[in-house]
Amino acid sequence: MIYNDGKAGFLTMIIGPMFSEKSGELIKQCLLSQNYQGKAVRIYKPAIDNRYGDDEVASRIGLRMPAQNISQEIDPALERQILAECIEEDMVAFDEAQFFSPGILPVVCRLLEMGKHVLVAGLNLDYLGRPFGSIGQLLLYADEILVKKAYCKCCGRPAMYTQRVIDGRPVTASSMSSLVLIGDQESYEARCRLCFVKD
Ligand SMILES: [Zn+2]
Repeated sequence: MIYNDGKAGFLTMIIGPMFSEKSGELIKQCLLSQNYQGKAVRIYKPAIDNRYGDDEVASRIGLRMPAQNISQEIDPALERQILAECIEEDMVAFDEAQFFSPGILPVVCRLLEMGKHVLVAGLNLDYLGRPFGSIGQLLLYADEILVKKAYCKCCGRPAMYTQRVIDGRPVTASSMSSLVLIGDQESYEARCRLCFVKD
């Protein structure tokens, strides 16, 4: 729980691989602030991610909250829309933030200048172990970084990588594939550094 006086702003980053309950952490913090602090909370998520429906964000363990779908391409018009919608909000959260265009950066910085507590949850690395989207840039502005771990599908160690798997075989840099594939256990596995297959 973070004390934010509504003037200085506060950025909490929640990063980790798939299956590490990033969305669960985001929802938990939003629910705590809304229900016990009486704060006004708004959650955005990229329209590309509709696994759990168009109007809510949900975690695999079962937490859920209303959320607003927005385009993953954050242009100046969408930036103005978000800033206008959040004038009265205390806490603003972005889930699956690795999918947003670099326009997410000025939006988050502006919200911080407006005194908001901003929560950003996203994958740290893509399935090839490369920095994903603007997450790395956003981390530079963070007041707090929560590194979530999953359990390695192969050995049970703490996992920070996300392995893409097709027909039981890891997809690597030399494989033909598309970077963005929304999937679940059938197509992705959490892996530790020892078990992650890169090449
Ligand atoms: Zn492992």
